[in-house]
Amino acid sequence: MSNPFRDLPSVTKLLDAPALVAARARHPAALITEAARAALDALRSKIAAGEPVSASAGELAERVAAQLDAAAAPALRGVINATGVVLHTNLGRSPLHEEAARAAYEAARGYLNLELDLDTGKRSSRQSAVRGGLCAVTGAESATVVNNCAAATVIALRAVAAGKEVVVSRGQLVEIGGSFRIPEVMAVSGAALREVGTTNVTRVSDYERAIGPNTAALMRVHCSNYRVRGYTKSVELADLVALGRKHNLAVIDDAGSGQLIDLVPFGLPGEPLISESISAGADLVLFSGDKLLGGPQCGIIAGRADLVARVEMDPLMRAFRLDKMTLAALEATLRLHRDPARARREIPALRMLTTPLTELRARCESFAEWLREIPGLTVGIREDEAFVGGGSLPDVSVPTCVLALSSAVVSESEFAARLRTGVPAVLARVQDGRVLLDLRCVLEGQEAGLLDAVRAAVG
Ligand SMILES: *Cc1c(COP(=O)(O)O)cnc(C)c1O
Repeated sequence: MSNPFRDLPSVTKLLDAPALVAARARHPAALITEAARAALDALRSKIAAGEPVSASAGELAERVAAQLDAAAAPALRGVINATGVVLHTNLGRSPLHEEAARAAYEAARGYLNLELDLDTGKRSSRQSAVRGGLCAVTGAESATVVNNCAAATVIALRAVAAGKEVVVSRGQLVEIGGSFRIPEVMAVSGAALREVGTTNVTRVSDYERAIGPNTAALMRVHCSNYRVRGYTKSVELADLVALGRKHNLAVIDDAGSGQLIDLVPFGLPGEPLISESISAGADLVLFSGDKLLGGPQCGIIAGRADLVARVEMDPLMRAFRLDKMTLAALEATLRLHRDPARARREIPALRMLTTPLTELRARCESFAEWLREIPGLTVGIREDEAFVGGGSLPDVSVPTCVLALSSAVVSESEFAARLRTGVPAVLARVQDGRVLLDLRCVLEGQEAGLLDAVRAAVG
């Protein structure tokens, strides 16, 4: 009787099989040996459990090589965003403009005058590279930047109100997702939250009644990811500023998505612009760099110079400061914003948000012709809504045009799962028994990959 343990190849034989010899060019020898041993151990366990195994050295070597390749593949890789959600937090929010990406790349691979004034040879602040650009696009007296808007909120509240009270409307106690919740952020900052009003109605008098000797600031928070509808009242920023002036209190505006350009002419709803918050008199305005600014992940604090200086003196500034790559990308993005028309046309997030429906429909129609050549695939085109983004303006939709696909071979959920796990990975929407592809966020040069991905998913 043959002994199945004896039929297994030796480690040496396995390592000498062509697939693992070829793998030596891609993987360290020690990892190959370890993987080969582990594969043989797994087979021995199966035999011991009475399971049938059949493995020639050649086949087994191929399996081990495939496992090694899979383990060495980068965990972070590019995906095709066919969801139509422009600022998709789970997909990295805003793609950078070519000039911003290049600036980050150059900063990454060399040395730069990050904290050095080349004229004087003296140490300088890394903030000086972006302060001017931030003031120019916001109209603020001064500005500084940290890792994200959550950090901006924490450090701004510490500077203005640590150990004191900050008055916020109950209608604005938002959770942005992850763990950004206004009451908790406030607690971390050392400021005490003083809630006023109700979920749907808050009046100036509610804020005023809450002001006492320990009040340091009034704060407005943008309801980024929800809306209160029906019978509602909230206080305009200008009225909050007037109240703040009367009682000598700072007014902080957590504006969130950081819109710099009016997008109403492009069919988007009116959102307060950062420059409007500044001109309304907010003492500090906080917003993200990777939402409607269209830049790298960061949090911007713009406003009164004395308060910005106080923020920069906080020891947390060291913990929250930007790295050189992000700073370089931000500087380049701000330079693009000096010409708002160019920024709208060229910054990817803004371009994608404002792509006209007619252009999207034309893209859908020509892409549909390619798709219709795939056997067993039913291709329709329909009008739908695209959303601005997860933690940014999820309530704000823009009319869009999508490809609605169904397959004779796979269910819509299996179809979408195959797209998601393929190479390149494609993220689509599933609705009414169809897989929907929105080309709005499919970047130039990704269409061939998308076509291949669909073909593979239904093949
Ligand atoms: C998105 C958002 C934040 C959090 O910004 P991050 O940059 O993701 O940290 C905070 N406040 C508001 C109002 C937001 O919309």
